[in-house]
Amino acid sequence: AKSRGRGFTQYYIPMLESRSTRMLMQEQLLRQAVERDEFELHYQPQIHMHSGELAGFEALVRWKHPDRGLVPPDEFIGFAENRGLIAAVDRWVLNQACRQAKAWQDAGHPAVPMAINLSAQEFRQRDVVREVAQALEDSGLDAGLLHIELTESTLMLSGGQMSETLQDLKALGVRLAIDDFGTGYSSLAYLRKHPIDLLKIDRSFVSDLTHNPDAQAIVGAIVQMGQSLHLNIVAEGVETQAQQQLLKDMGCAMMQGFLVSAPLPSDQAQHWMSQHCHP
Ligand code: C2E
Ligand code: CA
Ligand code: CA
Ligand code: CA
Repeated sequence: AKSRGRGFTQYYIPMLESRSTRMLMQEQLLRQAVERDEFELHYQPQIHMHSGELAGFEALVRWKHPDRGLVPPDEFIGFAENRGLIAAVDRWVLNQACRQAKAWQDAGHPAVPMAINLSAQEFRQRDVVREVAQALEDSGLDAGLLHIELTESTLMLSGGQMSETLQDLKALGVRLAIDDFGTGYSSLAYLRKHPIDLLKIDRSFVSDLTHNPDAQAIVGAIVQMGQSLHLNIVAEGVETQAQQQLLKDMGCAMMQGFLVSAPLPSDQAQHWMSQHCHP
């Protein structure tokens, strides 16, 4: 038993150690990235369904990792949330996105909204209202051009304080959007309770649209509800012309997805605007 114990110790524990060491290293690297601004934003255009005109951009973060190159958010956002680092990332994104939107405007591009994603932690731990106000002031961006995307689970998690925070954000003049709409807990009560401006229909409904009547019924219902509640609706993850046509027929006003463009680095997004936007 003794030797088995030792064998276990020698074999198994080092593996555990190396795993936690790896995690620690990743955490260290991410902290470093936060300190050194080692992130990059890619911008995905949204267009008006009918005119094809640019309706805005969504800023999506990437981590400039020293060994792994550009790391997509799904591979580090969860980790950053667990380690309490996401608020710092979100804050960097907020400031960078505001500055970029203002710079494009100053360069003569159309003044369209810039959307950012804020995690639940940013709402819980930080003085998000003060930070947003500061970012707007520092950048000079018009508050109405900043859209803040939050998920249904963020609305659920943050409880009573959330209401006040969202009212304060609205008072600054920013617009509030519910991301991945339809995938979280039913948020119909929240639509009455909170000052929401925009719903983003989750990609999963859009991708099922052409072959699943239920997905069609759900999207149709969201679009109609949006119209009666005077909410703007953006369909996410539109990849095919067939999806676009169905969404258009249902009265969905805006879309975002690979059919229009993938998220683009800053210089390419600017190039995209000069190709697609004519004053
Ligand atoms: P999201 O907010 O739902 O963003 C849309 C995601 O769908 C993006 O992935 C985008 O590249 C991808 N996408 C766009 N159009 C299409 C399409 O037509 N087909 C397919 N298959 N995918 C499409 P990305 O950039 O990898 O971001 C993933 C998620 O990471 C985002 O989902 C968002 O929840 C989160 N995220 C991104 N940036 C931030 C950030 O700055 N802060 C926080 N807290 N979360 C972020
Ligand atoms: Ca989003
Ligand atoms: Ca989404
Ligand atoms: Ca998402």
